Amino acid sequence: MFQKILIANRGEIACRVIDTARKLGVRTVAVYSDADRASRHVAMADEAVHIGGPAPRDSYLRGDAIIEAALNSGAQAIHPGYGFLSENPGFVDAVHAAGLAFIGPSADAIRKMGLKDAAKALMEQAGVPVVPGYHGDNQEPGYLAGQADAIGYPVLIKAVAGGGGKGMRLVERSSEFAEALKSAQGEAATAFGNAAVLIEKYIQQPRHIEVQVFGDGTRAVHLFERDCSLQRRHQKVIEEAPAPGMTAEMRRAMGAAAVRAAEAIGYSGAGTIEFIVDGSNGLRPDGFWFMEMNTRLQVEHPVTELITGVDLVEWQLRVASGEGLPATQDQLSIRGHAFEARLYAEDVPAGFLPATGTLSHLRFPDHARIETGVRPGDTISPWYDPMIAKVVTHGATRAIALRALEAALVDTEVAGSVTNVDFLIALTRHAGFGRGEVDTGLIGRDLEALVEAAEPDPRSKALAVLGLAGLDDPRVRGGMTLWQPLRRTIAWEGGEAVLEVLGAGVARVSVDGNTHQIGYEGGRWWVDGSPRASRIVNHAAGTSVFGGRSLTLSPLDPLARGGAETGGGLTLSPMPGLVKAVFVEPGQEVATGDRLAILEAMKMEHTLTAARDGRVAEVLARAGEQVEAGAPLIRLEEEVDA
Ligand code: ADP
Ligand code: ADP
Ligand code: MG
Repeated sequence: MFQKILIANRGEIACRVIDTARKLGVRTVAVYSDADRASRHVAMADEAVHIGGPAPRDSYLRGDAIIEAALNSGAQAIHPGYGFLSENPGFVDAVHAAGLAFIGPSADAIRKMGLKDAAKALMEQAGVPVVPGYHGDNQEPGYLAGQADAIGYPVLIKAVAGGGGKGMRLVERSSEFAEALKSAQGEAATAFGNAAVLIEKYIQQPRHIEVQVFGDGTRAVHLFERDCSLQRRHQKVIEEAPAPGMTAEMRRAMGAAAVRAAEAIGYSGAGTIEFIVDGSNGLRPDGFWFMEMNTRLQVEHPVTELITGVDLVEWQLRVASGEGLPATQDQLSIRGHAFEARLYAEDVPAGFLPATGTLSHLRFPDHARIETGVRPGDTISPWYDPMIAKVVTHGATRAIALRALEAALVDTEVAGSVTNVDFLIALTRHAGFGRGEVDTGLIGRDLEALVEAAEPDPRSKALAVLGLAGLDDPRVRGGMTLWQPLRRTIAWEGGEAVLEVLGAGVARVSVDGNTHQIGYEGGRWWVDGSPRASRIVNHAAGTSVFGGRSLTLSPLDPLARGGAETGGGLTLSPMPGLVKAVFVEPGQEVATGDRLAILEAMKMEHTLTAARDGRVAEVLARAGEQVEAGAPLIRLEEEVDA
């Protein structure tokens, strides 16, 4: 086994590799860009080397700088993760030339699978079924149009160098072919520096089923299949293993084809053979075709780990350091069912726009496997993939694992950026998905309803108003003293509401033209007579409501927050911090603008002042005390109408 390895990646996959290396007693070297100085993967590694600017081409794609870092730090091998340099054969050659091991396949195997057209030709020779279509050299538009006509519409145009769904166009009829070809070639030229395309029959009601393989350079085994049919625009959203409806006969056929594919190129390490499957008539052993091979560890590898009990990164390290295959085919079996959901910083209602932000609050459930590269306070920067985490669950049956996924997502709390968590929750509740009726068109067909079900609702907003007023937890927050009858206007960035507290744990919130009755009973919130799974959380960037249909309200100005909301005479801590001094005591008269207390937060001192004239009723904080955002500090007596 290696003593020390360098991980040429960032984010969750770098952290994932470090976890297993540590388990095996292997020391780790991280590399990082300017944007990642304070990242989780850097903190986790034994050593870290700065390799350049935030743009990938200035850091994570700089093979020379990465190899130099490995040599200088005494690492014996490089793990590439996925993306970046993981499927770059030139990098693999350079790693070997430097006398280092590459934790992955040979450069030759990567080259053979690197271009989709050549890979298809090779697989045909190896007796692996491929999608019918044209994958030859002639790129003349008229010729390609003729091929498309011969294949029969609909067809799919694919960039031969493509990946991540780029350079791909579905063409429904002949008249649309020329236009689609031009745009696919343009996109391919920009993204991959290679405009060449292939044309495939578009499989109706397609399912994406892939087989995990593992080779030692000569022989290979498979670790069964994953179903990745839940996609949006050819990008995976939720993956599972095994595939719903899979038969023993089909699994044997697909596994054998995948092993044949891996052995045909002398594959070493973890790889994935992706197949497109005709799902229109149940799964049949003659209804699957090779699409491409991903010559690396796949994003969704954890679902395979959970059903097989194999640590694929451990296998990668063992085989790359010279051991044989850790198991024979007979020793591998499937236990239960697993799901993975990809949690992204993205604005779903705005068309799944990638988002950025500083995660002012981040909490994951402990009843799921979480793969993440971020911690509370970390930033999702515009430089990289906006994935926040992978939420992975396992259960004895598909139904149990799916309910576990739903529960894990409901218990996930992210503030500081919008996320797709509620879209993912809506998917776990989709009836067809629940029945295992998956195909790559499912999300597209029901997109409107799924997005609608993921939008924050007025009841979440009403609860968030309580949070802004510091009434987020009736059990602890200042006891019930805060829940005294009052009526005040609460304003935030983009809206306002009228809050009436009627008694302990009972309130009314009027917002957006509706009035909601709120209660707290039996350890949960009730809105308009129905119980909610919602949790109200105050954090540095405002108040969030989690537990489905999440939303965050940001105070108008963090420092004006106490002043803006003291209709009830309450001064709240505008942010988490340390109370440095309190200048008033109960019974004392104060005038508007008088100093009440000093709070130290974000390395600065903030003076909190009285928003109106009055007499101090209660001092709820002491100097030296650490307080949360929204914590009540000082309460003035009720105003008496003159
Ligand atoms: P997976 O099935 O593992 O999700 P994807 O094709 O979605 O495979 O790619 C996973 C990650 O690898 C993407 O998020 C992206 O960062 C990276 N990636 C894949 N292919 C390419 C490519 N051709 N160019 C750049 N990055 C890629
Ligand atoms: P990428 O390299 O971008 O991952 P793939 O060839 O793996 O490209 O295809 C990505 C996705 O496009 C598949 O998961 C599937 O949803 C869809 N797809 C690919 N080929 C076909 C096909 N022939 N018929 C129907 N859908 C397809
Ligand atoms: Mg693919």
